[in-house]
Amino acid sequence: MSKTRATLSVFSPLLLLTVVSTTSTSSAQAPSASDGTPGVDESILDRSVSPCDDFYRFACGGWIKKTEIPADRPGWSRGFSEINERNQTVLKDLLEQSTAKPATDANGKKLGDLYKACMDEPTIEKTASADLASLLGPIGKIKNADDLAKELARQHAGIGKPLFDFSPSPDFKNANQIIGNLDQSGLGLPDRDYYLKTDEKSESLRKEYLGHVERMLVLSGVAKDKAAAQAQTIFAIEKRLAQASMSRVERREPKNLYHRIDLDGVVALAPNFAWKTYFAALGIPTVKEINVATPEFFKELNKLVVEEKLENLKTYLRWQQVHGAAMGLSKPFVEESFSFYSKRLTGTDKILPRWKRCVGFVDHAMGESLGMSFVAKTFGDDGKAKALDIIHGIESSMEQSIKTLPWMDEPTRKAALEKLHRIANKIGFPEKPRSYDALVVNPGSHLKNILSSAQFESKRELAKIGKPRDKGEWLMTPPTVNAYYEPLFNEIAFPAGILQPPMFGRTVPRAVNYGAIGMVMGHEVTHGFDDEGRQFDADGNLRDWWSQTVNTEFNRRAQCVVEQYSGYKPLPDANIDGKLTLGENIADLGGLKLALLAYRSSQKDQPAAAKSTYSDEQLFFLGMAQAWCERRRPEYSRLLINVDPHSPAEFRVNGPLSNMPEFFSAWKCAPTAKMIRKNQCQVW
Ligand SMILES: [Zn+2]
Repeated sequence: MSKTRATLSVFSPLLLLTVVSTTSTSSAQAPSASDGTPGVDESILDRSVSPCDDFYRFACGGWIKKTEIPADRPGWSRGFSEINERNQTVLKDLLEQSTAKPATDANGKKLGDLYKACMDEPTIEKTASADLASLLGPIGKIKNADDLAKELARQHAGIGKPLFDFSPSPDFKNANQIIGNLDQSGLGLPDRDYYLKTDEKSESLRKEYLGHVERMLVLSGVAKDKAAAQAQTIFAIEKRLAQASMSRVERREPKNLYHRIDLDGVVALAPNFAWKTYFAALGIPTVKEINVATPEFFKELNKLVVEEKLENLKTYLRWQQVHGAAMGLSKPFVEESFSFYSKRLTGTDKILPRWKRCVGFVDHAMGESLGMSFVAKTFGDDGKAKALDIIHGIESSMEQSIKTLPWMDEPTRKAALEKLHRIANKIGFPEKPRSYDALVVNPGSHLKNILSSAQFESKRELAKIGKPRDKGEWLMTPPTVNAYYEPLFNEIAFPAGILQPPMFGRTVPRAVNYGAIGMVMGHEVTHGFDDEGRQFDADGNLRDWWSQTVNTEFNRRAQCVVEQYSGYKPLPDANIDGKLTLGENIADLGGLKLALLAYRSSQKDQPAAAKSTYSDEQLFFLGMAQAWCERRRPEYSRLLINVDPHSPAEFRVNGPLSNMPEFFSAWKCAPTAKMIRKNQCQVW
């Protein structure tokens, strides 16, 4: 999926999907239901495998055999990628219409200009080097600590997050209030572990990274004989940042990230950095309310800014700008960046066609304007009503489940119910799309547009600090094929982009919808009660509302899930990290159960579904599994094992099902069937 959309919290929302790259190319076919029940494709089953031995293979085996991963994608999935492919085609048509005829409104003109400048390769080739020079120019003028702080503010408000990150976040203990948040950042590799691991694969990847940095420096004008040494300098600085960074698993514990020390505390923690100059240059000279997510990181930063020579820091800042701007520059930069970040890290052979990159850019820059036209074309009020209906069913099932859980005591049960009742549901698109009046679009320069849209976004974000949060805000654009739960807002959101077949169809049997989108909705609701989400209360505040005994019982159950998933091996030499993926796995387990309960109660007054080879409940499970059929390149698989809090699709299907007696009876599995786990995990 696209890189995590700029989100409000330190804590990116608990995304349903994954962390890198977007999906899909090639055949933009609508998902076919060639025979049998609409919404379930019987032609992609592998009937040589028993559903009770390996349900994922049974449901998706035929699809896996016949599906080639498109050359320009790191992986491909029947649900997400195919939906994304169709959504992108719709967006492309809309943007081509915007460029073809003179726009009648300001947003339409901006959308057209953004897309046209992005598509105009000849102009990019001509103007990019002058544009890059103007990006790098100010770095050469840094002479002292104040200049360094000003330059960091300039970059942070534009392209890149070198050395650290500063953005708004709800105060964990008073979530309606937005404060500033300082956090670790500044690496060129996908995770701190890439700098620290000592195995052979990691060593050789680091060598390749050094080569990549060196080539990018040469492209940006550094003399060949100096570039290798500069790459070493850059790597050494990034490695120091990596060593001081918190791991992904540590970051899943909210209290590790909460240190509200305010401006005075920040100045005392890292006095060598000119904070006041930095905040003044960002345009918020009076900011006081600040959380430091990672104090150890800022202690190291404090040393780094005086121990490293200023020339070395400037070298690092130049690299970070070139790296951040690469996809907006001329062909050699684009190709070099692709060859390391996509080819090497994800195994992808070909770069996405330009139009897909440009559709992605415009969605990123003006998604709530472009998205409203998308919604008008693909969604509509009946879609919203139907989706809401399923969510309400899921929430009632969660209520029943909380009311009857044997391991709950009354005070904790009451607090859990209150939290559930207060979850805000967002469906489809924002009620009030944001204004793009202040966004400056330059019809003649793609790079200038990348910069101005980043500056527009940064201004919008920084303006939130010191104010109550805007409850209408969305953290994803409407065409996004994804969903989220944000614990600090206690809200779930399902963009119109994911409410499409085969995740959600307006004409498919209810069993299939509940299995596919119902499971996704149950997943997001359960996030409010996973190991991380449960630490926030109904108002989104970090507060312990669990009694001691119930807390111990939750942890025991969660540990069962950690052990179950740690045993899975997506690659012959790499296991899933059961701790990194715990929240997502708990959400998958709970989500599927809630979806089935909701489906059962929706069945009560309804006639049976259309005739099919399969029973209604079998269709429910097939609808779920076939929404997840997936293939990944091995390089991509390895990358995601390291950085993605979600398990691969095979285990998102078989993992929850192997804990689910309702599944065993729906498929009449013998007690010895492989899908039946001996030690079954039950959380919610
Ligand atoms: Zn999730």
